Amino acid sequence: MQATEPSRDWHADPYAIEYPESAPFWEAAEAGTLLLPQCTQCGRCHWHPRAFCPLCGAADPQWRSASGQGEVFSYSIARTEEPYVVAYVKLNEGPLMLTNIVDCDPGSVRIGQSVTARFRRTPQGRLLPVFVPAPCVKA
Ligand SMILES: [Zn+2]
Repeated sequence: MQATEPSRDWHADPYAIEYPESAPFWEAAEAGTLLLPQCTQCGRCHWHPRAFCPLCGAADPQWRSASGQGEVFSYSIARTEEPYVVAYVKLNEGPLMLTNIVDCDPGSVRIGQSVTARFRRTPQGRLLPVFVPAPCVKA
């Protein structure tokens, strides 16, 4: 794979040092890919990254690409000068992810609403997954 810009040194990132098991997640995010840990024993995905599957206890979960699709499980509107939405999104792969719903009127967010992952650059320089309302594609 050919990089279009210098890759970030994740081994120097304080978060990656503190949580080395998350480094593949941040590396993939730079390429626009949302990864999830998946257990090699029970086959289920979980979040956050861990050294063991929190659902069955098996060691060494593997990374897999996620669909980036999910639905709003719960949410809260932070009533600041610029209101924003903090939400748990239930990913199609199963896990709940604490995130933000962006690029929409905060008052329009609803539980059960379909959302799609996007990446936003954090002040610390990482690309963090956030979610935007998805057009309804349920058949
Ligand atoms: Zn498991």
